Amino acid sequence: MVHIVGAGPGDPELLTLKGHRLLSAADVVIYAGSLVNPDLLKFCKPEAQIYNSAQMMHEEILHVISLAEKAGKTTVRLHTGDPSIYGAIQEQMDAMQERGIDFDVTPGVSSFLAAAAALKQEYTLPGITQTVIITRRGGKTPVPDTESLKKLAQHKTTLCIFLSVNLLAEVKQDLLSAGFKSSTPIAVVYKASWPGEEKIIRGRLDTIVQQVRDANIDRTAMIVVGHCLNAKREHYEMSQLYSPKFSHIFRQARD
Ligand code: SAH
Repeated sequence: MVHIVGAGPGDPELLTLKGHRLLSAADVVIYAGSLVNPDLLKFCKPEAQIYNSAQMMHEEILHVISLAEKAGKTTVRLHTGDPSIYGAIQEQMDAMQERGIDFDVTPGVSSFLAAAAALKQEYTLPGITQTVIITRRGGKTPVPDTESLKKLAQHKTTLCIFLSVNLLAEVKQDLLSAGFKSSTPIAVVYKASWPGEEKIIRGRLDTIVQQVRDANIDRTAMIVVGHCLNAKREHYEMSQLYSPKFSHIFRQARD
């Protein structure tokens, strides 16, 4: 049996209880070494066989999994954040399905959520935006033209941009051509939730490239853009959820 597990964004305490149970029982662990915090491997059994998939190719990963299956062992495939987001797990799941290997998936806390926690920010403020777009800028992996950053940014939602901090100057240009002003607030969160390593840079479109360069950040960072970041209490509307004027199934309106 293979368990695909979301490792969370970095802080080992942000692994789910289920992920922890599966990881601590696994005979074989294949972890995405470029991003998973190696401290999570302390949860593994001392005799577990541990592989770093950063040094492996698709076929090698499948080979390790197939051997473990033949030996009746349990494998955990540990992915950073939540595996459904830029996790490259579909090709692994499809290959396992073809080979008749049984697997399941345990979700994890994605880094865009750890970034919100680091920023102490709600992404969906009433009256500002009710939408979060998760995207990346086209790089080695192209982004379909219909969803280019230039097009998506026109919606003026909160944007969480993955895998793009090394292209921040291009990201800025795309956002400006989508109609964002150069004063638009933007934040870059490096290693959100990693104990002792997290860095938060807050700026504006016209300052951020230099700020991030000065902080020497070129990877493992989330770019967050949108007006939620500078919305003061007078800019957004109070939520209906806690308003005395509204009833819902758990509470009657009060006069
Ligand atoms: N599946 C992962 C994303 C993998 S893609 C998730 O759900 O978070 C890798 C990208 O995720 C990085 O380039 C960076 O943009 C982002 N990322 C991963 N961990 C991060 C962290 N702790 N802090 C900020 N960004 C992170």
